[in-house]
Amino acid sequence: MISFNKPYLTGKETHYIYKAVSSGHISGNGEFTKKCQKFFEEKYKFKKTLLTTSCTDALEMAAILINIMSGDEIIIPSYTFVSTANAFVLRGAKIIFADSEENTPNIDVDKIEELITEKTKAIVLVHYAGMACNMDKIMSIAEKYNLYVIEDAAQAIDSYYKGKPLGSIGHLATFSFHETKNIQSGEGGLLVINDEQFTERAEIIWEKGTNRAAFFRGEIDKYGWVDIGSSFLPADIVAAFLYAQLENLEKVQERRIRNWKLYYKNLKELEEQGFIQLAKIPAYATNNAHMFYIVLKSIKERTKLINYLKEAKIFPVFHYLSLHLSEFYKNKHDGRNLKNSDKYSDTLLRLPMFFELKEKQVNHITKKIKLFYK
Ligand SMILES: *Cc1c(COP(=O)(O)O)cnc(C)c1O
Repeated sequence: MISFNKPYLTGKETHYIYKAVSSGHISGNGEFTKKCQKFFEEKYKFKKTLLTTSCTDALEMAAILINIMSGDEIIIPSYTFVSTANAFVLRGAKIIFADSEENTPNIDVDKIEELITEKTKAIVLVHYAGMACNMDKIMSIAEKYNLYVIEDAAQAIDSYYKGKPLGSIGHLATFSFHETKNIQSGEGGLLVINDEQFTERAEIIWEKGTNRAAFFRGEIDKYGWVDIGSSFLPADIVAAFLYAQLENLEKVQERRIRNWKLYYKNLKELEEQGFIQLAKIPAYATNNAHMFYIVLKSIKERTKLINYLKEAKIFPVFHYLSLHLSEFYKNKHDGRNLKNSDKYSDTLLRLPMFFELKEKQVNHITKKIKLFYK
């Protein structure tokens, strides 16, 4: 059997958890939290990072930080996970859903400008499959209309846009360490603060609306309630687990990229024969092998292929359903047809991708897919 995903223990996770426990500090903002944040700040030159309990939480923090009020409009791709939108809906925002590009599930930057109104406050983009959106265009639109840009980089660890790490370009960015992502801590996330106007407040929101973090650094002599906030920080036990994973980032990436390239090489001929489409990586983007997906001709064909592979004990999984057509949002959407988002909802299929996936297994999967098309 080849499952879709399999969480991978790199080796030191339980050792570091033991260390955190024996240090006596297992709540948030302990030694391992600081080590993880430092890792990101040093490796990717993020100005300030805060570990969170999930990417969802980091997105909620971003919505608070940019002061979303009832009626503010946010432009978001429809082809994404619910949290990208929900974090802003929670604060009263109206979501204006944008379509994907024809050739990638990323937001179509040429269709953003027509969605901007007086009420627009931010563009929240998703680097789908860890492949960069067209950031120069997005940043210049944002500058022209004075909007914030938030990168939902949940899938985008260790990936780049024209040499810049994803997560370092927008005003704020969020990462996920959910067990389905390249680097995992079960549940987990990170908020990246690139615009310094948000740094101080972010720490307060993170610590339940108190200036506790500044107090523990000795910057003030008592701490109290100074703003809204929540408990967004993870226990140091979770950070300990995450740190072990981060130490093995290169090893994890090397293996995932090897498997990705093998899939690509093996399936290229099916693309050339016109049966399927493979990911198109723009020249400005890198590939962090978060996901290997193929695009089929119809939902019917996809269902058939899923069933065919399931019979062979291989478990591929489709992905998002357009959010503008969701039960929660369909009556709030303005009725625009988002055809590329709907196309990917119906026809995109993700193949098994995880650290321990063997070359032999990739070859087996691609052989089965080719047999299906025979
Ligand atoms: C995984 C994912 C999330 C949610 O991450 P959590 O850490 O589970 O909250 C949000 N957005 C995108 C694009 C994701 O892939």
